[in-house]
Amino acid sequence: MSSTSTGNVTVIDTKRGIHPRPVAATNAAVAARLAQLQEKAAGRDAHGILELALTGEFAGKTAVVSSFGAESAVLLKLVADIDPNTPILFLNTGKLFGETLRYRDRLQDVLGLGDVRSLAPSLEARQKNDPDGTLWSRDTDACCDFRKTIPLAKALAPFQAQVTGRKRFQTRERADMLPVEYFDGRYRFNPLWQWDLQQLEAFTERNSLPRHPLVEDGYPSIGCMPCTRRVQAGEDYRAGRWSGLDKDECGIHLTDGGGI
Ligand code: SF4
Repeated sequence: MSSTSTGNVTVIDTKRGIHPRPVAATNAAVAARLAQLQEKAAGRDAHGILELALTGEFAGKTAVVSSFGAESAVLLKLVADIDPNTPILFLNTGKLFGETLRYRDRLQDVLGLGDVRSLAPSLEARQKNDPDGTLWSRDTDACCDFRKTIPLAKALAPFQAQVTGRKRFQTRERADMLPVEYFDGRYRFNPLWQWDLQQLEAFTERNSLPRHPLVEDGYPSIGCMPCTRRVQAGEDYRAGRWSGLDKDECGIHLTDGGGI
């Protein structure tokens, strides 16, 4: 897969059916607003970008999307410092590790998060798409679609902006992301876009943040249980996610108008 940049918008190889559209081609007003936001974000640190996303014109209009995974405590701490009642959208796919669910509850408690929303596919969607719960073994894109993409799209509908914990170093697709993007009908802020693992570790240590218990157990990146394995010494940091498949993302961050 290859990716290039056109103006302010990342255009990703369409091999896997990913079709982001250049903002300028769809809405000039949005492209102009995006350029203003990117200018405001330039030179700001993570806290500053979050202030842009959670206060002022976006106050009450922004949701944070969090997996409560290996590095999630960093973003959630930064969010809680600004507004602990910011809506936090968490995709409870039904396939997560029990450790993740307990970690969510612990972080909610420790950080005083007042509005954590657990999203799930409807019973009807589960019965229709994955009655025996094994779709992940046959078609991961379809499984991610109904367990993640669709519930998240519904939950994000009332919001004008979203905040993600994505970082450039994580995947090929994320390597050229910007601090502010426009995606799927709303502005998207990525306050940790330039952070690396050392910075994440230092922040975690400095703030005595609880750690996801599976990290110690060999999982540097954590998703659903069937699609996450331990990483061996020398392997890529995300090698345990959808191991063996040409898949780095679950779709919620990639499609424009379609559907993590
Ligand atoms: S990560 Fe795996 S189990 Fe989770 S929704 Fe995607 S395919 Fe299904």
